[in-house]
Amino acid sequence: MPTETVPGPEKVRFDRVTKRFGDQTVLDGLDLAVAPGERVTLIGPSGSGKTTILRLLMTLERVTDGVVHVDGEPFSHMPSGPGGKLVPADERYLAPRRRRVGMVFQQFNLFPHLSVLANVTEAPRHVLGLDADEAAARARDLLGLVGLADKEDAHPTRLSGGQQQRVAIARALAMRPELLLLDEVTSALDPELVAEVLDVLRDVAAGTDITMLCVTHEMAFARDVSDRLLMFDRGRVLESGPPGKLLDAPEHERTREFLRSIR
Ligand code: ADP
Repeated sequence: MPTETVPGPEKVRFDRVTKRFGDQTVLDGLDLAVAPGERVTLIGPSGSGKTTILRLLMTLERVTDGVVHVDGEPFSHMPSGPGGKLVPADERYLAPRRRRVGMVFQQFNLFPHLSVLANVTEAPRHVLGLDADEAAARARDLLGLVGLADKEDAHPTRLSGGQQQRVAIARALAMRPELLLLDEVTSALDPELVAEVLDVLRDVAAGTDITMLCVTHEMAFARDVSDRLLMFDRGRVLESGPPGKLLDAPEHERTREFLRSIR
């Protein structure tokens, strides 16, 4: 099993991370580092632990064992007491750190009772404390970026799935995250709506230096935006490499089998 390292500073590091649900081991002593600005795509069969990695970074789940670091400091844990012993992070420690992480989910999870603009301004106003004008200006820029400048007053239920997902992308970016997590963001969309969302994400990837971790089955997208692909199998990285290598010349039969299954 390769240990995934990067040469310079690390944006993210999983240090022997194990995650169990009951007696099921979903991640098994995972070592994984991601460099600042790097785009890493996680591929592999359903149930291999990919989404769990993103959920640990969103603090939607807690590690069973091991430590997650972000920007060289503990994230799943915090130093405590005179010796700086690591203990599970509490809410006060996590809150400011979690703000640096944005996530876009498979189900867009927009607030249905709020307009598009209010969906995008909500967290910048209430979490970052921006005033209404600043938050609206930021939101309008981002709605322009995702091609929805004319929809700011619409309610999410009036939008197509692709439009809703583009609002969700604008909403995540409005917090100016340093780390953007994309969890199968096109899986819930009708096929004809997939391209518009992936095009927006290609623009985001090309126009920013946000570190990105994606879980996707869209291999053409993965090939375009990723610096590195990781093939997961049963909670471990089976193989990794630049997309050209992993997709065109995979080393493992498991990887070949997986790629055949989704093509
Ligand atoms: P992937 O993203 O690769 O499909 P996941 O990380 O979603 O895999 O899930 C890995 C395994 O963990 C699956 O078998 C799933 O059923 C299990 N799992 C994920 N979340 C939970 C949970 N909250 N409670 C119990 N089991 C879970």
